[in-house]
Amino acid sequence: MNILILGAGFAGHTAALHLSHLVRGKARITVVAPKNRFTWFPSLIWVGTGTMSEERVHFELAPVYEKLGIEYVDGRAEVIAPDDRTVTVRLPDGSTQTIAYDYVLNATGPYLNFEATPGLGPAHGTTQSVCSVEHAVAARDAYLESVRAMERGTRQRLVVGVGHPTATCEGAAFEYIMNLDWDLRNRGLRDRAELVWLTNEPDPGDFGVDGVETRKRGSVVTGKALVQMLFDENNIKTMIAAGVTKVEPGILSYDQVGVDPGTLTYDFAMLIPQFRGIPMKYVARDGSDITEKMAAPNGFMRVDADYTPKPYDEYRANDWPALYRSPHYENVYAAGIAFAPPHPLSKGKKTAAGTVIQATPPRTGMASGIMGRTVAYNIADQIAGREPSHHARMSEMPAACIASMGKSIWNGSAASIIMVPVARDFQKYPEYGRDMNLCDLDVGIGGAWTKRLLHDAFMWKLQAKPGWQMIPE
Ligand SMILES: Cc1cc2nc3c(=O)[nH]c(=O)nc-3n(C[C@H](O)[C@H](O)[C@H](O)COP(=O)(O)OP(=O)(O)OC[C@H]3O[C@@H](n4cnc5c(N)ncnc54)[C@H](O)[C@@H]3O)c2cc1C
Repeated sequence: MNILILGAGFAGHTAALHLSHLVRGKARITVVAPKNRFTWFPSLIWVGTGTMSEERVHFELAPVYEKLGIEYVDGRAEVIAPDDRTVTVRLPDGSTQTIAYDYVLNATGPYLNFEATPGLGPAHGTTQSVCSVEHAVAARDAYLESVRAMERGTRQRLVVGVGHPTATCEGAAFEYIMNLDWDLRNRGLRDRAELVWLTNEPDPGDFGVDGVETRKRGSVVTGKALVQMLFDENNIKTMIAAGVTKVEPGILSYDQVGVDPGTLTYDFAMLIPQFRGIPMKYVARDGSDITEKMAAPNGFMRVDADYTPKPYDEYRANDWPALYRSPHYENVYAAGIAFAPPHPLSKGKKTAAGTVIQATPPRTGMASGIMGRTVAYNIADQIAGREPSHHARMSEMPAACIASMGKSIWNGSAASIIMVPVARDFQKYPEYGRDMNLCDLDVGIGGAWTKRLLHDAFMWKLQAKPGWQMIPE
């Protein structure tokens, strides 16, 4: 029995760790991923502000897999042939290898689609990103150049947020701007920087999940009010419900709800690109291309979700996938960012010029890890001759996010956000769609300690060091 995992990120690597125990002696596990490394993305915001070295956010996969008896192939999956049960992989030397499987998990994460916004991204030497180790290092260097300009007395405009009207991952960009704010204060340069938050979210604190509320001493506190307060207190200007449409050196063109399209000059910009599925071709036994059947137009793989188009008010909890299994092949799964969400979580808006401004739902590290574990258990069920019995709908799943607002455990801070479940379920929780006894929002130094602890705890767990199973996803 061969289990093939494509991708060694939060979803794929977590699935591999669990499967190494669940099917020990019953199946051979192979992981295909390029570059032989796992990246702990949550700490890239610190790499991008120069407060953590890049060596601390990744580790080599091969020794971990050797320890667990997992085969590792350094390569990129290009073609999945679900009838033949094979995957074609491009190896670093340009040759290809075809690998047979009985079960396959597509956990290949996002393709960073800079091309969707003309001129966006480090390749054009215009804007920065913190979506990979290399990008975060380049962002740090560009930021430090701005710091040097401020030290010489030159005022700088730093724009942070998302670089496409339908981008996701606003939470990471929020952490980045709050860490810039903190770092500039520590350097005594904050008064020489204008910080601008540019986002496609319909409201501050939406984060692509339709925001969050909690009850504190009988009153409802919203993430929107909390995040707006943080921006006001820290003198961060905001451009909400805005989408970047084009970038030229030093100039962003944008369209925004309620405002005429315009341009904004910048000295430094960190803008997260739109995400698509990793380019992957699916072929049938007769060689015909079945990519349209297997994947959504955005390249993410369709799973057991309800993809029927419907208006926002008709979204249902059960639209979200439970098993993360292809509706067409019972041995093909997709988890993490690689699966196609059935619809957004936040309400989209349209500008007067007709641009759709829509935050795409995040599939965060925690959610991706839970999905990876769920798929591992479902594959183990199938190998044992049972129907898959493990569910992890985003409309059932909790999410805990610690948004860093300064790394130091002495004077740092973080916003801690708990939502249960991620996707609102109005049938179960008619008032807010979430369990208000469990949802929580808090800001303080305790979050900064937790964020640092999480870094170390997860780097331990993900290297399968003793007791790793006791650390949850
Ligand atoms: C700066 C930043 C900060 C973040 N902070 C947080 C946070 O604080 N908390 C949180 O929960 N989430 C956070 N996230 C989100 C989190 O990192 C993602 O949700 C998570 O990485 C998604 O997991 P994944 O397994 O789907 O994809 P990834 O982790 O991106 O893994 C994808 C894997 O697939 C591999 N791959 C790519 N192409 C191929 C191919 N063709 N064949 C085989 N393998 C391939 C990649 O090399 C990688 O190993 C952050 C993200 C960023 C960018």
